[in-house]
Amino acid sequence: MNEFRADLHCHSTCSDGTFSPEELVKHAHEIGLKGLAITDHDTTAAFALAEPTAKSLGIDLITGIEFSAFHYETSIHILGYSYDPENSAIQELCHRQTIRRNNRNALILEKLDKLRFPVTMEEVIALAQTARVIGRPHIAQVMVKKGYVRNVQEAFRKFLGDGKRAFVPSSAIGIQETIDAIHNGNGLAVLAHPHLIVKQKVLRQLLEMNFDGLECYYSRFPREKNQKWIDIVVKKGWLSTGGSDFHGEVKPETALGCAWTDYASFQKIKKI
Ligand code: AMP
Ligand code: FE
Ligand code: FE
Ligand code: ZN
Repeated sequence: MNEFRADLHCHSTCSDGTFSPEELVKHAHEIGLKGLAITDHDTTAAFALAEPTAKSLGIDLITGIEFSAFHYETSIHILGYSYDPENSAIQELCHRQTIRRNNRNALILEKLDKLRFPVTMEEVIALAQTARVIGRPHIAQVMVKKGYVRNVQEAFRKFLGDGKRAFVPSSAIGIQETIDAIHNGNGLAVLAHPHLIVKQKVLRQLLEMNFDGLECYYSRFPREKNQKWIDIVVKKGWLSTGGSDFHGEVKPETALGCAWTDYASFQKIKKI
């Protein structure tokens, strides 16, 4: 593959992926990607770990992150790119997210206990190993290990998925404060996978906010599903990004590089 492709959405073992930051860069190189952003949930840790490998393999690596936010009880994901990882507004938001997650994870384990599928925090922490951020996929993997479910997908379908028996909604961190933190860190804020937003009113309101771009090309959505988002970014003069949302073995159906960002868009996001 000679064409320039950059995957700007993937997760490492710093959050809920199963490839380490170094392994992600190596895998990107193997499959012919030229650019990469590791967008772990609520942590900036992967960039520094991946940078030496990216330099040695000639992969253009930019900083990335995926923040969870809430808007009228709808969970929205916001991607941040090319920000300064040392910026205090970004780090404060990561810290608030960690507290939010810890509280929520404890409530999920309480629910599982009541359902007689006990999982302890020690078991989750042991499984998560190097993760800075612990989320539902880690709890799901412990459930698989303990024989409660056959795989991570079944854990989400029966227990952990939105609205399911052990689901706990998250306390709110807002969209605007998330965009502001990314901008404060000199980064670009991109609305992640708009394809997945069901409530049209929420979508309309989000599109009025000061995002810098939309993730028009996402995972394995077919071309015709992307066109709607491309039309919107053209109209607004926003950036168009693309990424796989690769998580490794916890989401085996999604391959790294199955959606990508082209050269022209990547250069704008890289802000050289
Ligand atoms: P959390 O960050 O704890 O709210 O968990 C959300 C994460 O769980 C997403 O980023 C995905 O990695 C993963 N996830 C969500 N739904 C599923 C599913 N149905 N099967 C497997 N993983 C999922
Ligand atoms: Fe995830
Ligand atoms: Fe997401
Ligand atoms: Zn993601």
